Amino acid sequence: MKYALIDGQRYEAQSGFKGVCISCGSPTVARCGEVRVNHWAHLGQRRCDSWWENETDWHRAWKNNFPSLWQEIVHTAENGEKHIADIKTNEGWVLEFQHSYIKPEERRSREEFYKKLIWVVDGNRRIKDKKRFFEVVDDVSYNKNYPKLRSTFPEGALFRDWINSTAHVMFDFGDDELWWLSPLSNESHALVLPITRRQFIQFHIDDFDSSPNRFETFFKNYDLKPPEPYKAPPIVPAIDVGNIHPNTFLGLMNNRRRSRF
Ligand SMILES: [Zn+2]
Repeated sequence: MKYALIDGQRYEAQSGFKGVCISCGSPTVARCGEVRVNHWAHLGQRRCDSWWENETDWHRAWKNNFPSLWQEIVHTAENGEKHIADIKTNEGWVLEFQHSYIKPEERRSREEFYKKLIWVVDGNRRIKDKKRFFEVVDDVSYNKNYPKLRSTFPEGALFRDWINSTAHVMFDFGDDELWWLSPLSNESHALVLPITRRQFIQFHIDDFDSSPNRFETFFKNYDLKPPEPYKAPPIVPAIDVGNIHPNTFLGLMNNRRRSRF
């Protein structure tokens, strides 16, 4: 972690510093060496957040694009479950910088936990990902329903890992442009759009109240009907129709159908 508490104040790691974890309050020590970025580690090998991954220079560079008060924010769910968000903006967006592979179950858990989540994915971790991504994205099949977006068949490992995400995904290949993968995408349609790194950061940090400068406004321009075929709806438990009047049952079914959207 970049921060720990000393006397209740957030500090960055410096040689010889001792503090406590911002999330669990356990003792932490500053680790400042040649190999990894300066960070705080729990004493022993214990980790309080199973979702935490070791930070790379890439993580730190991303975090440092945002105010320090937004970095490493402890998020607590109603049931008491706690995790440390990489960034939480004034508007309540959580940004998670994901370098290593994440299992689909954990990705889903994190999307469920944070709700208003944007993944920023390191597209340079695997050698072939960038080349493959651009082969696919440059081979665009224009879809008349999405004239402003690139619609393509999601081939390759990067799409395989992220196509089913219900959150916003930004692929970072180290270029000036990030690639946004719309949450409307599904296994047969990847809807993507380049956006400059600078613009993406400014959407969050600019103080302007005017809506054109917000991330919400950006993606709502493309918030269209999902492409067909849509993902199969979740299996819902059968309703016990035992003593329900048929009209009530139909009403319930209709409500249920509407609530999917
Ligand atoms: Zn901890």
